[in-house]
Amino acid sequence: MRALILGFACIAPVILAVLWPHSWLAAIGVLALSHALVLWPTLRPNSQWLGPVITSFDSPSNEVWLTIDDGPTDDTQPLLDSLDERGVKATFFVKGSLAARRPDLIRLMLARGHAVANHSQTHPSGSFWCLFPSAISSQVDECSAVLESITGGRPALFRAPVGMKNPFVHPILARRGLTLVGWSVRGFDSFGDDVERVVRRIVPRTGAGSIVVMHQGRAFSVACISRVVDELQGRGYSFVVPAVERLKTKR
Ligand SMILES: [Zn+2]
Repeated sequence: MRALILGFACIAPVILAVLWPHSWLAAIGVLALSHALVLWPTLRPNSQWLGPVITSFDSPSNEVWLTIDDGPTDDTQPLLDSLDERGVKATFFVKGSLAARRPDLIRLMLARGHAVANHSQTHPSGSFWCLFPSAISSQVDECSAVLESITGGRPALFRAPVGMKNPFVHPILARRGLTLVGWSVRGFDSFGDDVERVVRRIVPRTGAGSIVVMHQGRAFSVACISRVVDELQGRGYSFVVPAVERLKTKR
């Protein structure tokens, strides 16, 4: 699909030039279609058009993967305490720039049995989708290098800032052996402070093998994550960090 989209984008200007003398409307239509075919999978999180995005995992029972983005932040310690109290293991998709400032918190995540993964160096949420390959590579490599310097190992998973990835991202990740991880369910907990609204968005949409994405660093993050965990555990779900072999691109 990626090759088709990029191939069409490449020949669209030629088609435009051929069509223009006969029908400027058709020519504009071809140009708009070629742009739309690139922009749609770029801006739509979890779209598989440009390459595989992990959106679930194989689960023989009621297992859920909790992923927590945007740390490490000042609430990491209380968040880890809350997860410990509930017997929950999670994967933290962290920013390299923050990890460099608080390597102790990264070590603490690992010491408590959680996993740590790459969420870019500076999290350019407004521009990552339109970065050129060199800038994308820097975002990926600098974060991996920070994590390797702290943990001694390079991360295997990457989540794009706000889930947007352009046609350059997959080849860059593939060359580095990184897997792009999206999600099954999100609660938009980056916005507002209504815990119950987040719970209502996440819980009914969660099933066995769901990847739940939440965020830390907001005033209500610890309460919100804890509330979602309580609700899902109350419905019989357990929390696991699945091995890479169990990850899937479809529910
Ligand atoms: Zn993020």
